[in-house]
Amino acid sequence: MDLERDLDERRKALESVHRKIRSCTLCPLHTGRTKAVPGAGPTDAEIVFIGEAPGFYEDQQGIPFVGAAGRFLDELLAQSGIDRERVFITNVIKCRPPGNREPEIAEVEACRAYLDRQLEIIRPQVIVTLGRHSMARAFPDEKVSQVHGQPRTVVDAASGTDLVYFPMYHPAAALHQPSLRSVVEADFVLLRQVLNGELEPESYSPPPDVEQLSLF
Ligand code: SF4
Repeated sequence: MDLERDLDERRKALESVHRKIRSCTLCPLHTGRTKAVPGAGPTDAEIVFIGEAPGFYEDQQGIPFVGAAGRFLDELLAQSGIDRERVFITNVIKCRPPGNREPEIAEVEACRAYLDRQLEIIRPQVIVTLGRHSMARAFPDEKVSQVHGQPRTVVDAASGTDLVYFPMYHPAAALHQPSLRSVVEADFVLLRQVLNGELEPESYSPPPDVEQLSLF
C-alpha cells in the first residue's frame, strides 16, 4: 500500500476510534462527562504524550491539555525545539473523573483498548508517559522519581512489536511543585535527543514476579 493511502486509512481508523470514545458507555464516567476527550494531533505523530485524565476545561471542550498544564506543555515543547505538529496528546482515560480524582483501576481497564488502538494506528517513534498512572502502563512497579528521563524499549504485549517509552513527571506536578520544573525541562532536552537518535533507549523486561500491564 502506498504511503498516502496507508495514512488515509489510518486517519479513518483513528477517527472511528474517536467516534466510539465520544459515545462510549463502558464505565460509569460517561454519566458525568460533558465531552469525552479522545486525543488530538496528527495520525502519523512521532511522539504520543499520555496524560492521566481530562480535567475541567478538557471536559468542557473535548480537547486534551487545554488548561495550565497544557500551556506549560506547549512551552516545554517550544523551548526544547520539538514541533507541536509532531505530537499527539491523549490520556489514559478519556472521560473526566468527578472532582478530578485519580482514575480507578477499573476505569483504566475499561478504557485501555482505546489507547492500545490509538498507539497501534499512530505507530509513534516515542511514547511519553506523563505521571504515574500513564507510566504504569509500561512500568507498573516503578516510581516516576526513579525512572523519569530514561528511555526504554519495551515489547508490546498486544502487538509483539518494540515500543520506546519515555517516562516523565506530569506537567501539572511541576506547576504545583516548582522544584520539579527544571527536572521536567531537562527531561525534554533528553526527549529531543531520543528523537534525534542521539540517546539510545535501554531494553527493558519486567521483573519475573511482575506480569507486565497486570495493573490493568
Ligand atoms: S473513561 Fe473510557 S471507558 Fe469510561 S466511558 Fe469514557 S471512554 Fe468509555
